Amino acid sequence: MNNDIEEVLFDQEQIHEAAVRLGQTITKDYAGRKPLVLSVLKGAYLWTADLVREIDLYVDLEFIKISSYHGGVTSSNEIQLVTDVQSDVAGRDVLILEDIVDTGQSLRFLKDLLKDRGANSVQVATFLDKKGGRKIEIDADYVGFDVRNEFVVGYGLDYAGLYRNLPYVGILKKDIYS
Ligand code: 5GP
Ligand code: MG
Ligand code: MG
Repeated sequence: MNNDIEEVLFDQEQIHEAAVRLGQTITKDYAGRKPLVLSVLKGAYLWTADLVREIDLYVDLEFIKISSYHGGVTSSNEIQLVTDVQSDVAGRDVLILEDIVDTGQSLRFLKDLLKDRGANSVQVATFLDKKGGRKIEIDADYVGFDVRNEFVVGYGLDYAGLYRNLPYVGILKKDIYS
């Protein structure tokens, strides 16, 4: 599996530092509140595990599953709600945890959904931000790393369902998907 990687962009140590940095900021920003942390499956599973352990607050942890890719390397415009959140978000301060913001369509879908359901506030902590991929003007509130406009895998992010268990983020060799 490691042989399929062209270049490592962020290693385990850098990722840990990002989780600590964001965790401290979120702890300060949400002081006195009890946010509902909403992890977006599957991509954000490792980011969620690492980031929540750096947040020194009482939090509720929920999961939601949406799909935007269909196995390839480009986003589709159609976002589908695959598994809904299991609790009421009305009146809650929701902190969405995402693996990556690319076109912004997934984030738009999620923020609209949560606002429609009466969330008190909706903020986003994304592991990666691919600002060069935006089709919709929307931004995350907390960003682990900016990433250039290339297809990356690892640390939760997949290609055709694989590579989510790589402990770092890297760029896949082109011949793997071409
Ligand atoms: P968006 O809706 O912002 O275009 O993208 C949302 C989803 O597309 C992300 O949560 C992620 O699952 C997927 N995605 C976007 N860019 C990449 C990438 O570079 N690598 C992988 N593996 N997934 C990506
Ligand atoms: Mg995602
Ligand atoms: Mg995917």
